[in-house]
Amino acid sequence: MTYRTSPLTSAERRDYDTWSPRSACQGKDPEMFSTRSRIPEAKAVCDTCPVRRSCLSWALETDQTGGVWGGLAEQERLQLQLRIAA
Ligand code: SF4
Repeated sequence: MTYRTSPLTSAERRDYDTWSPRSACQGKDPEMFSTRSRIPEAKAVCDTCPVRRSCLSWALETDQTGGVWGGLAEQERLQLQLRIAA
């Protein structure tokens, strides 16, 4: 997971703080979620994550473009957004 370059709003930060403490990636190497060759490893962690849906929703709503969020890589989230918009 790589955060977008523009800062989070306070509402976005508050929302993030409601689900992120229960994430399976707490304490994991953050590079795993932002390094292309480690996407399968990151997705395996996401598969065990109790807040996966919240993570994915938040990433889509706040335009997080880089890395793995909610078990989906950047291109997969883009494809999902295009399907939602169609
Ligand atoms: S779904 Fe994946 S990236 Fe999102 S909080 Fe869970 S482990 Fe982290």
